[in-house]
Amino acid sequence: MTAIESTFKKRAQAAVANKTLKAAIERTASTAEKKRAIAIAELPDFSNMRSCAKRIKDHVIANLDHYLETFERNAVASGAKVHWARTAEEASHIAVDICKMAKAKRVTRSKSMLGEEIGLPHALELAGIECVETDLAEHIVQLAGERPSHIVWPAMHKSREEIFSLFKSKHEKPPVSEEIADLVLSARRDLRQKFLTADVGISGANFLIADTGAVCVVTNEGNAELTTTPPKVHIVTAGIEKLVPSIEHAFVLLRLLVRSATGADITQYTTFHCGPKRPNDADGPEEFHIILVDNGRTQMLADGMEEMLRCIRCGACMNHCVVYRQVGGHAYGGTYPGPMGAVLTPVFDGLKQSRDLPHACTLNGRCAEVCPVGIPLPTLLRQLRSRSWRSGYEPWLTKANVSVWAQFAKRPKLYHAVSKIASKVIRLFQKNGRIRWMPLAGNWTRHRDLPAPASRSFMQLQRSRHKENGS
Ligand code: SF4
Repeated sequence: MTAIESTFKKRAQAAVANKTLKAAIERTASTAEKKRAIAIAELPDFSNMRSCAKRIKDHVIANLDHYLETFERNAVASGAKVHWARTAEEASHIAVDICKMAKAKRVTRSKSMLGEEIGLPHALELAGIECVETDLAEHIVQLAGERPSHIVWPAMHKSREEIFSLFKSKHEKPPVSEEIADLVLSARRDLRQKFLTADVGISGANFLIADTGAVCVVTNEGNAELTTTPPKVHIVTAGIEKLVPSIEHAFVLLRLLVRSATGADITQYTTFHCGPKRPNDADGPEEFHIILVDNGRTQMLADGMEEMLRCIRCGACMNHCVVYRQVGGHAYGGTYPGPMGAVLTPVFDGLKQSRDLPHACTLNGRCAEVCPVGIPLPTLLRQLRSRSWRSGYEPWLTKANVSVWAQFAKRPKLYHAVSKIASKVIRLFQKNGRIRWMPLAGNWTRHRDLPAPASRSFMQLQRSRHKENGS
């Protein structure tokens, strides 16, 4: 077992034991689940819209080169500078270089998981540039020195009391009470001056509109607008899968994104950025840079994982995931948690280091059911499991157990005879129909019990039924 694998297990164990964390996750995830269900029920053509969204994304992915070139051409025509980054390191170097050229001392950033993916906050810090997170939840996470635990609610693991004491120790004019309005006011006071004095604003992108070269960003707090408008330079970091052919296509996805993420009909702010400030504009950046990031995305196409490129980062899969709701986002270790993270982290960080993640799933299929772009997450997780097996990453004990099982499975008579004996032996450990401890199964029974095997197997029942029917 590698160090990273044991870290994942340790994190998951620590998370399960943390009652405050569990309560915080459950409160937000169950509210999100209910709100989404109501929003989807009120959308009569949800299933058609979902198929349409899936077709849009599949079409773009199949014609990625065409739409990337179209987007670049139109973005450049609107005055933007387009940069291409193959890796996370390249992307953050480009962003840091632009900041250095602008002699930036302070940079504001609106929430972007891609920024986290490419390690941008860390790269800015190394370059001696102050990076201010402006999304309220990201602000909390930054002050706490932590990483986001959810892609829509980065601070969902924090209780109100924890946020109050954090703000009390970090804000110049701290909140006077734990009331949400007070906490928000405290953050606003802290951030306002930083918004107005930032040299560069960095945002992500929800959609890149190919036929206009525009960048669409949605938020609920308006912080993206304050991040991107006052500074002289605006940098957008975006994954290449964010492309859509036109604004009409963006709106189809937008309707699904917002409902799936928060259960609302629309976000408070939906902004389209198209080039820098024009001569008659009252405000806006003088320079507008777009960094298009690959970082493993074209490899996903080559590896048969292209369906994952449909992801619009709504977070519905994690809100409905039984594993995520037990362990929270930090246990996953990567930038992206939950089912989508269990697929993406092995792609970004390597399957060897994160081979436990595809196993952190019961394959109950709820994530695929709620995904607004129909990503078959359990199928992709199974693909990663078998790739891990073929690559020899599984522990020797698992390999040995499966090899022994395969020997029996190839000999049905022997298999039935051994199953019969095994079932009798296992029943020796039962108490009131449940097995709470069993040798060689300590890892399972330590956390949960299991029902005792039935006295007659399915095959035995079937045979006696056939006999009774005379067939
Ligand atoms: S995989 Fe689907 S449900 Fe999960 S974040 Fe992406 S789009 Fe949303």
